[in-house]
Amino acid sequence: MSATAPITQDVMTIPRKLPDGPINLVGLTRAAMRDVLIAQGTPEKQANMRVGQIWQWIYQWGVRDFAEMTNLAKPYRASLAENFVIEIPEVVSKQVSEDGTRKYLVRIAGGHEVEVVYIPEESRGTLCISSQVGCTLTCSFCHTGTQKLVRNLTAAEIVGQVMMARDDLGEWPVPGTRTEESHARLLSNIVLMGMGEPLYNFENVRDAMKIAMDPEGISLSRRRITLSTSGVVPEIARTAEEIGCLLAVSFHATTDEVRNTLVPVNKRWNIETLLDVLRTYPKVANSERITFEYAMLKGINDSDEDARRLVKLIEGIPAKINLIPFNEWPGAPYERSSGNRIHAFAKIVLNAGYASPVRRPRGEDIMAACGQLKSATERARKSRRQIEAETGSGR
Ligand code: SAH
Ligand code: SF4
Repeated sequence: MSATAPITQDVMTIPRKLPDGPINLVGLTRAAMRDVLIAQGTPEKQANMRVGQIWQWIYQWGVRDFAEMTNLAKPYRASLAENFVIEIPEVVSKQVSEDGTRKYLVRIAGGHEVEVVYIPEESRGTLCISSQVGCTLTCSFCHTGTQKLVRNLTAAEIVGQVMMARDDLGEWPVPGTRTEESHARLLSNIVLMGMGEPLYNFENVRDAMKIAMDPEGISLSRRRITLSTSGVVPEIARTAEEIGCLLAVSFHATTDEVRNTLVPVNKRWNIETLLDVLRTYPKVANSERITFEYAMLKGINDSDEDARRLVKLIEGIPAKINLIPFNEWPGAPYERSSGNRIHAFAKIVLNAGYASPVRRPRGEDIMAACGQLKSATERARKSRRQIEAETGSGR
């Protein structure tokens, strides 16, 4: 050990006490990682720099072994290895669809499982990640909604899904370089559209997305991250202020009566309240259009009148309407609208000046499409009444 190497001296600083057992560095905010490094013995003056270095190893180069962090002195690496781990969820199984969509089942602490879907497209690759095991909300057309909430994912488990997918895609660049230098990113976009309501797990989702957006983290632009909410109004303003990513809203109906049945959270925050907060979102978040997701359910929400009401409701909001042909699942109480109906609906929306892309279902053969996700281990179907009794109505 050389007494002159500055990092060697770090290790010799008397450490403040760390809690028992190794701490997972994945998912820690910069401030939180700084704190644990200082407690481990890193001098305060160097802590910010060390956070940046370690972040790069973890999030830009995919390194999980401290020994490989070659710009840190060996004794410092050894001390890090004694105190910390770099851990992400474990992949239990992977299915690849005929269209190239990949669905992963990943296991998180406690033996719970969540699904993650990678959707390759011509000019981008989108990872659809989960924020909760199950969901407290009980949207009547959603498969996840039939599974009671088991628990929120931690920030490590959320950003860990991105790291897991980059492992599987083999897209970590050679340390010292950036992905973009060798090829366009395979994983270029993130959507929080998997299992769960992200805004009921706000802090963990925020911390994970901050890492995804940080130039020393996963380094994706905030315009490449879309958070989808069923309409948790109080947290939408916070999303604008504290995350600043793009927003998608599960709208699905044009009257409160219908929306109450499809998206029951509407009973708490109705269409008018939701639209009010959406009007302010783009300004606060300095973001572009809001995406209105609209599942096309035969005879329920797909009439010309619905389309006209929809464009009237959202007047003045920079918006795109994403029409999602309903994806069926075993026991689903709805049917998909016909292609002609979807087309007619889209035309009215388009003529009113809004982009109205019809989302092409991806990975249907492996049940990876929107709203079909549900952990195999917890697939036992529950009745609506049972779910409501267990979770309380609304939240
Ligand atoms: N909980 C969040 C995000 C996950 S759902 C939310 O509700 O926004 C992602 C999108 O798929 C939502 O718009 C959801 O309403 C929609 N969806 C759910 N089940 C569906 C189904 N069976 N067919 C089509 N879209 C569905
Ligand atoms: Fe939960 Fe979203 Fe499904 Fe509704 S649509 S039950 S909020 S995951």
